[in-house]
Amino acid sequence: MITILRAELVAVGTELLLGEIVDTNSAYLAQELAARSVDVYWSQRVGDNRGRITEAITAALGRSDLVVLCGGLGPTDDDLTREAIADAVGEVPAIDPELEAGLRSRFSRFSRSMPAGNLKQAWLIPSAEPLANANGTAPGWFVRTRVGDRIKVVAALPGPPRELVPMWEEQVLPRLAFPAATFAARTLKTFGVGESHLAERLVGLTERANPSVATYAKRDGVHVRVAAKAADHDLAAALLAPVVDEVRLRLAGHVWGEDADELADLVLTRLRLTGHTLCVVDGATGGALTDLLGSVVPPSGAAVGSEPLVGAVIAWRDEALALLGVAYEPSAGRIPSSDSEAAALAAHLAEQGRARCAADYGVGIAPWWTAPAETAPDRPTVGSAWAVTGPGGTEARAVTAPHSGHAARRERLAFTALVALWTQLSTT
Ligand code: ATP
Ligand code: MG
Repeated sequence: MITILRAELVAVGTELLLGEIVDTNSAYLAQELAARSVDVYWSQRVGDNRGRITEAITAALGRSDLVVLCGGLGPTDDDLTREAIADAVGEVPAIDPELEAGLRSRFSRFSRSMPAGNLKQAWLIPSAEPLANANGTAPGWFVRTRVGDRIKVVAALPGPPRELVPMWEEQVLPRLAFPAATFAARTLKTFGVGESHLAERLVGLTERANPSVATYAKRDGVHVRVAAKAADHDLAAALLAPVVDEVRLRLAGHVWGEDADELADLVLTRLRLTGHTLCVVDGATGGALTDLLGSVVPPSGAAVGSEPLVGAVIAWRDEALALLGVAYEPSAGRIPSSDSEAAALAAHLAEQGRARCAADYGVGIAPWWTAPAETAPDRPTVGSAWAVTGPGGTEARAVTAPHSGHAARRERLAFTALVALWTQLSTT
């Protein structure tokens, strides 16, 4: 078996170059290869052009052990991946009788006659082994070819992800060997510290190569990824552990989860475990907070009507708040006009929601308010406030909005409130 140390990706399709489809296949394959400690230094995208696909393959074969192509295995004239591989390795395709028989029987099983164009899906070159496709007509190719004194591999997979993924897992992976070195990685998810401040706290760690420490700004805060590479998994894990501990220590109070954790999922799971319920009254995220909570799939077997989230109310102005029976008379008008009024309103909303739904916890978010220019000439003027109320009491805080767009502002506020709720849930 050929051991793959370095691989390269070539995604084929003019649609990719026009931006009409997004190259998720390369993202998938890149993750798969990284997980097996294979270095990927190049990833190409090329249109449906025989000469240029051939060029891409030739360049890739010159510098990598494995070239994975995706797309262009269909039956039409602009599906040129097979032709280009044949050109790159200097062979001529011919119809393989077994593949042709398989193709014809597939068509007759669906009671359809086979268009002449499909015959090229029965092609092979001498150095190619066909890869069975359980989900489509196009077989893949697994080509072993000599480059200098090395044997290298070209794997060609169909474009549709539902065909590509099983073919990669079931047909390509078993034919390859990977480096003995393995990765161990842990992602710590933080909120409340900006990426550059966070980087300052991690000084001395982020410069190191193994384990490496890197920060990524995401919608739910900044993620810190610690990764270690070693000869086997135990060694990699041993290398990783002290650095993860150090990162945790330096970011104490800001880490809400790790790896696959999702904030809304953590919150609902905790509520479910403790048998507690939640009501949300939302005056500013326009449903973004509810959407985060509502997108969590309940565990299988959970009875309908037993969800911890009792309900959520979106109310932007006091007319709507009045429908809830929320009697609130901001001193300076219909909506808050100061940080303290906003915080008081958020607390009031959280408490009213909690009381009216007989819930254990309430989250309130005050409507956005804008400070008059003369009172706030030098700060962001859009503000809101969140409040969390529960058995441990009520906590409310005003927030000023970042300079980002409306949608980002709403999402950020939703995550801010969710982190506050999670903090209260995990400390009471
Ligand atoms: P088909 O037999 O369906 O023509 P194919 O192997 O020729 O398959 P393409 O024609 O290149 O593949 O692409 C078919 C479809 O597969 C595209 O319309 C797109 O939906 C999906 N696809 C192709 N390439 C990619 C890619 N790199 N990332 C994600 N999806 C892709
Ligand atoms: Mg096609």
